[in-house]
Amino acid sequence: MKSPLKNPRSLIRPLVHDLHAYVPGEQPKIKGLIKLNTNENPYPPSPRVLKAVKAAVDGRLRLYPNPTAQVLREKLAKLHGCAAENIIIGNGSDEVLIMAVRAFVEPAQGRARKSKSLVQYFHPSYSLYPVLADIHGAAKNAVPLNANFALPSVAELKKGRVWDFNAALTFVTTPNAPSGSGYATAELEKLCRATNGVIVLDEAYVDFARENAMQLALKYPHVLVARTFSKAYSLCFQRVGYFVGHAELIAALDKIRDSYNVNGLGQVAAVATLDDLKYYRANFRKIITTREELSRSLTLLGFRVLPSQTNFILAKPPGGALTAKGWLQKLREKRILVRWFSQPEIKDYLRITIGTPAEAKALVRAVKAILQAV
Ligand code: PMP
Repeated sequence: MKSPLKNPRSLIRPLVHDLHAYVPGEQPKIKGLIKLNTNENPYPPSPRVLKAVKAAVDGRLRLYPNPTAQVLREKLAKLHGCAAENIIIGNGSDEVLIMAVRAFVEPAQGRARKSKSLVQYFHPSYSLYPVLADIHGAAKNAVPLNANFALPSVAELKKGRVWDFNAALTFVTTPNAPSGSGYATAELEKLCRATNGVIVLDEAYVDFARENAMQLALKYPHVLVARTFSKAYSLCFQRVGYFVGHAELIAALDKIRDSYNVNGLGQVAAVATLDDLKYYRANFRKIITTREELSRSLTLLGFRVLPSQTNFILAKPPGGALTAKGWLQKLREKRILVRWFSQPEIKDYLRITIGTPAEAKALVRAVKAILQAV
């Protein structure tokens, strides 16, 4: 019998039908694989965090969690020297990023590019931003970084005439991904002062950097700083991230937030994390040391490794028979997963997450073996 229903495709908005979804790194379940592809922390959460999460797994699971993650916001406010009203928590920082698009950007109408419909970002940076703009039906402005992924100055941006200082929303990944480049707070401040729309400084990796720009979120009403518990605080699984910024912007975001957007165990884990920052700071130091050692070893083997202020490096393998994509495959055959991106600016590089010292050694051994075989 013929279904009375329509062709399902005809039920989907054209915008959604045509959307190129974000492609997350692979999460394989193969045992013994060295996983250096999604910038996860190689060290587990602190024993206090694991204990707190386990202790919270009881009859309470039937109840809704605190809708505004109040305890967590108060603790974060103390940490950052602001009020709870300056903080909104998301289901990972990805959620606060999409909330910013929904709260501050008008969907584009017609063909004309209007600043109030514009989501702006540097290229290359976090590849989710264009997807968020597309989901919302906003216009996009991807502005190239300078050579070696350096941040263009305000004067250069003015001269280049591509940057829109009135864009409704600008995302800056700082330190940058996937290049790992760190940006000076003084430079970011100049950019913020010259920008009229909302500017999000996405500091997902900032705990591995020399500087952070949190002060700008507390100084300027149009600046939001995004942070996450995923990378530095070993909590990818729990999905907790947040914005710090002016109370009025935060209140606007709060209006469009799902009532119970942050799961209860995530809140418990994040609160316990803030009670044990010493444990995490020791891990940052270990990761930074491993990063510098691995960078040196790969440089000696002929890689061009960009200076990194994150928990990953962008490294160009030595020219020869193998392309960067070929290296990705060869390393995979040796049970080491790294990330490769097809965009022209970075297609000759591998992005390698910093693992434990043993994982770094295994990577160097694999690289030597591959170099000998080609
Ligand atoms: N910003 C950047 C630059 C990232 O690389 C990531 C992780 N992919 C995020 C934000 C989002 O992290 P999460 O949602 O886990 O907080």
